[in-house]
Amino acid sequence: MSAPISLKSDIIVVGSGPGGATLARELTRRGKKVLLLERGIDYRPRSYYGTYLGALIYSDRMSLLFTEEGLNIVRPLMVGGATSMYCGCAAPPPAWLKSKYAVDIDQEVSETVEELEIGPLPADLRGQASTRIAQAAQGLGYDWQPQLKFIRTSRGRGFSEKCGARCMLGCRCGAKWNAAEFVDDAVAEGADLQTRARVERVLIEDEHATGVAGVLGGQPFTARADTVVLAAGGIGTPRILQASGLRQAGAGMTMDVTVMVYGFVKERGIGNEPPMTWSWENPEVGYMLSTLIDPWLLYPIITTLKGLRYPLYWPKWNNILGVMIKLKDEVSGGVFPNGKISKPLTPGDRERLGMAEAVCHKILIEAGARPDTIFMTPLRGTHPSGTVRIGDMLNENLQAEIPGLDVCDASVFPEALDRPTVLTIIGLAKRLAKHLAA
Ligand SMILES: Cc1cc2nc3c(=O)[nH]c(=O)nc-3n(C[C@H](O)[C@H](O)[C@H](O)COP(=O)(O)OP(=O)(O)OC[C@H]3O[C@@H](n4cnc5c(N)ncnc54)[C@H](O)[C@@H]3O)c2cc1C
Repeated sequence: MSAPISLKSDIIVVGSGPGGATLARELTRRGKKVLLLERGIDYRPRSYYGTYLGALIYSDRMSLLFTEEGLNIVRPLMVGGATSMYCGCAAPPPAWLKSKYAVDIDQEVSETVEELEIGPLPADLRGQASTRIAQAAQGLGYDWQPQLKFIRTSRGRGFSEKCGARCMLGCRCGAKWNAAEFVDDAVAEGADLQTRARVERVLIEDEHATGVAGVLGGQPFTARADTVVLAAGGIGTPRILQASGLRQAGAGMTMDVTVMVYGFVKERGIGNEPPMTWSWENPEVGYMLSTLIDPWLLYPIITTLKGLRYPLYWPKWNNILGVMIKLKDEVSGGVFPNGKISKPLTPGDRERLGMAEAVCHKILIEAGARPDTIFMTPLRGTHPSGTVRIGDMLNENLQAEIPGLDVCDASVFPEALDRPTVLTIIGLAKRLAKHLAA
């Protein structure tokens, strides 16, 4: 029998989404020896990357992961984490992160905006139907603005207005930034990336984190380091902590619970336009609206969950106007040691969702949708987060109570962010890298 695999480094980073990838890159640049452990693989060179087949292959449970209440969660497990399937939207961190929790990442965020040239898509690429929705909303007094994007058309090998919701399956033209690019940088500068490395628990000795243990390419392994940073995402990180004896991890979660409100028009809808090109935030009530519909093949699957008559409209997919609601949900449910995930809406959440839905109705009608065709899709969760919260299990510098253990991903959010998460996560990782390198 072969001996168990044993690895060593200065710092172990678990997970290669925006949190782990940024941290690995920044620490390597600061001269640290980094071991980056990722349970998935790099799917970018595969022929099916960015296709429906690909999305099934690299999402947890083939995209059929559900909470106890039936919320569908898309959880990509791959190099780059969920940025391989995100909409490329960017938003600055909410002001409350600094004012209420003393987390100041302004400098790191500005640096990222400049480096990745974050900005809205040019006007002619925001989609005609999407722009019509935004104009209808503006006409009703809602101040919709072009959505900031991690997309630079100049980077693409062939970006076009017709990139469509398909780009949420994995960007094939290269215009959309993906955290896997930061992984590439880290590896080029000396980081040791191990894929198919599923971390199960943190090794804790004399009340200090000293490494991790898990399975690497089917073999048991251990890795030792002075510092362990968990960046396995809002579901992965609490599971590792629970298995390491920190049972309070995963009690309560946030999700930015998401739905789409659809209405049908005679003209072309937004299906073949880039997703989420315009948006509007209502911070008083706590929700965000944007232009979005499900990719073509996902439409019948998601709408079947609503009722059998809805998938019958599938042939009219190209005539849909869609407005996405992202709700600032309260902390509830959690990720539990028995493997279950729960995310019940509170009465307050339901009330606010109702208010947001009413606004979407008005906007869609103003944009030309037939009132009798308007309906809301089932709830889903695209931002599993808030499961190892700052102010609860972590201090404002993302350190856990156990020395040598830090967390740097969406699980640290103390409240639902109610906006695109990635820019905030990159900012948190850059700041943590400075602390750890010092
Ligand atoms: C469809 C969709 C659209 C989205 N659109 C946007 C958007 O436009 N803008 C935006 O800002 N956000 C968007 N998001 C959300 C955003 O992508 C995530 O919130 C963000 O990627 C979370 O980053 P993370 O570092 O916390 O974790 P993740 O990106 O989830 O990365 C975690 C990584 O850890 C790995 N991992 C998990 N468990 C283990 C383990 N035990 N051992 C080793 N590795 C492990 C996973 O394979 C994964 O690669 C979207 C999400 C989805 C699903």
